[in-house]
Amino acid sequence: MAKTIAAFATNVKGGALGIIRISGENAVAVGDSVFRCAAAGKCLANMKGYTAAYGHVFDKSGDIDDGVATVFRAPHSYTGEDAVEFSLHGGEQVMRQTLRAIFAAGAVQAQPGEFTKRAFLNGKMSLMQAEAVMDVIGASSSAALKAANAVKEGAAFQKIQDMKETLTYCAAQAAAYVDFPEEGLQEMDETGFLNKLNAVKTQLAALIAGYDNGAVIKSGIECVIVGKPNVGKSTLMNLLAGKERSIVTNIAGTTRDIVEETVEVGGILLRLSDTAGLREGGDLVESIGMERAKEKMKNAQLILAVFDAGEQPDDADISLLDTVPDTPKIIILNKTDLGCKVDASPFEKYGTVIKMSAATGEGAADLQQAISKTAGLWKLDPDAVGIANERQLVAAKAALCALEDAIDAYTAGQMLDAVGILLDESIASLLELTGERVSDAVVDQVFANFCVGK
Ligand code: GDP
Repeated sequence: MAKTIAAFATNVKGGALGIIRISGENAVAVGDSVFRCAAAGKCLANMKGYTAAYGHVFDKSGDIDDGVATVFRAPHSYTGEDAVEFSLHGGEQVMRQTLRAIFAAGAVQAQPGEFTKRAFLNGKMSLMQAEAVMDVIGASSSAALKAANAVKEGAAFQKIQDMKETLTYCAAQAAAYVDFPEEGLQEMDETGFLNKLNAVKTQLAALIAGYDNGAVIKSGIECVIVGKPNVGKSTLMNLLAGKERSIVTNIAGTTRDIVEETVEVGGILLRLSDTAGLREGGDLVESIGMERAKEKMKNAQLILAVFDAGEQPDDADISLLDTVPDTPKIIILNKTDLGCKVDASPFEKYGTVIKMSAATGEGAADLQQAISKTAGLWKLDPDAVGIANERQLVAAKAALCALEDAIDAYTAGQMLDAVGILLDESIASLLELTGERVSDAVVDQVFANFCVGK
């Protein structure tokens, strides 16, 4: 029998409220050992699931705090077990002393992710959904949250279940013809069989292709701000980030290194870096910075190229934009508050041209719109995200590989039992992907990445 576990569910370093979670067969009894309901005669043991009571948590030295206890009855709890949650004042002493009292009453410290692991082991959610719980907690943009929630709600799981069903049907069909070839079975519908396999192949390939899309949604777009010294890159970065981050001065070459910041624009996360002024020469420190800036440009998925609207750039300046011809670019003609003398036409072939003032914020809305529009090039669709991490990707690729082999074997006229074995292999990989058939080691590894209390 699994032990009754307990842990802080909120940050113990303070907050208006702090939550402690207890889960397991003895959760209610443990709860009653440390909580006294305010209402006479009431105790957690005689409360129904989804009900709460006001009272005091105490230990042998006396009352620790007053708060609310919520009771959950198996299987209707997060873990699927009996559970109790205490909502207390979020002070560190209150939280630690209460947890110690809970341990003294027989519960043990929950391991990282153990509540969610129990939910998985008790069939409350698939491994994919459990992994999505972490992504919901870690989501840092609205698109990432939407994608994680879609997986958590089981959309991806259902998609994979459908594929698995089709493959299982095909494998069974293949097996029937192998086992009972003369048993009066109708002639096998070869085209139908192949069509079904090909349909799953297409879906699986799309799921794998969507991984990059998912990675961009989850971790953001690598976006680099480049331009000559003093054109206003740091000021622009500060404008986008909404705070003073880079050092802004009017001495050319102040941003010597790369300053990074993560901002959300149009629901998409941008990992912005402001680079040292891209100009040849300069002192040694600056030229090292410039090398790194060029490296950054090569790795960037979006480039914000800044120019001073007050000076017509020479061809050499513009040729900067040829460094990475395939990367989407937005050209910013900055400092329009001082007037705009630049002819925008030579820039237009490189990308959207925005005239703005990073100092006054004029034109910032146009820039945000251009960023959203350019980000649209990745066709980021949070609903299309299925695969959320490397573990799932490996399993999906293995499933696709075995399925392709099965299709090849079938088209090459190989024996149906060989095709059946390959289909079973593909199904086994799909079961690994959803977590329905994984080793304990894999499960342990997944949950080891969780925080304690989740
Ligand atoms: P960087 O070297 O490209 O990072 O440029 P900075 O952001 O450090 O800006 C250089 C100078 O230009 C600073 O004095 C800024 O205040 C000024 N500056 C930046 N953007 C604007 C702008 O839009 N309008 C005006 N008038 N000055 C700006």
